[in-house]
Amino acid sequence: ALPQQAENAIQRYSEPLAEQRLERLRLQQALRDAHLRGEMWLAFQPKLCMRTHRIIGAEALLRWDHPTLGSVSPGLFIPLAEASGDILAIGEWVIDEALAHIQRWRAQGLLGDDFHIAVNVAARQLARRTFAEDLLARLSQRNIPPRYLALEVTESGLMGDMKNAIQQLTLLSETCIAVAIDDFGTGHSSLAYLKTLPFSTLKIDRFFVKDLEENDIDRQLARTIVQLAHSVGRDVVAEGIETDAQANYLRSIGCEMAQGFLYARPLPADAFTQWCETWTPSDHLSTPETP
Ligand code: C2E
Ligand code: MG
Ligand code: MG
Ligand code: MG
Repeated sequence: ALPQQAENAIQRYSEPLAEQRLERLRLQQALRDAHLRGEMWLAFQPKLCMRTHRIIGAEALLRWDHPTLGSVSPGLFIPLAEASGDILAIGEWVIDEALAHIQRWRAQGLLGDDFHIAVNVAARQLARRTFAEDLLARLSQRNIPPRYLALEVTESGLMGDMKNAIQQLTLLSETCIAVAIDDFGTGHSSLAYLKTLPFSTLKIDRFFVKDLEENDIDRQLARTIVQLAHSVGRDVVAEGIETDAQANYLRSIGCEMAQGFLYARPLPADAFTQWCETWTPSDHLSTPETP
């Protein structure tokens, strides 16, 4: 038997752990079919051209309002849905909902020709053999040209069946669906992906953006990521821009696209279209254009 002291220590540490596990299980249970109960919705955060400040698209970000828990963070529930496999059903709902919005906004004349809505795609979705085929079928059912949709894939999203993921993404990029590598630089073997993946855009993670003003190492890392992307012919979007200084630095190193609270937070669909209608690019050109 363990000495009393050790027993007490185990007691002290294992209780919160068990509670955490229970909490996780409860949340995972509540998550099942949440999209079918109308508890989920998409927020849209605009993406802008860094030089002109024109809107070039938006990222769709999933939101979950639980009836008693309130709003649950995607940082919490997405990993749970990935672990349980529910991300497959939820992910399909996200794509369908995004397509429904594209269809509606196109009909209302709100979307320009080069506007896209980007959807985040999880590893388990990409692991499906018919992911690309199903997606293209859904686009054609709704009569949406594929270029209106874009995908964001994280490095960890490619860890599983890399070969199949590449096949799916190749098929999609051949039909003009842009693929972005999300959270670039925060996962594993980033450089290998540059070689093997059919992607058009690198997304610099907020991790490299948030301390740009204070931290010279971050400035050098951001610069290196932009150069790296450009050297293989890809564009760069920076996420999580909150200050003018961050935006100015990223623009100065050639980053093409911007996203962040500085411009707009992720917004409900109606607020997003209102934001688009009132956004005046010229109001936000802090530095004069140089030829
Ligand atoms: P992500 O795809 O890297 O999305 C960017 C996150 O940064 C979003 O968090 C967004 O709200 C937040 N953000 C944007 N601008 C700023 C800023 O200026 N400052 C700060 N502090 N944050 C900013 P969110 O919405 O909580 O989503 C977290 C993650 O959850 C996403 O990271 C994505 O990986 C995942 N996620 C969200 N929706 C979906 C989805 O539909 N499917 C999948 N598979 N994953 C999703
Ligand atoms: Mg994303
Ligand atoms: Mg990201
Ligand atoms: Mg991120």
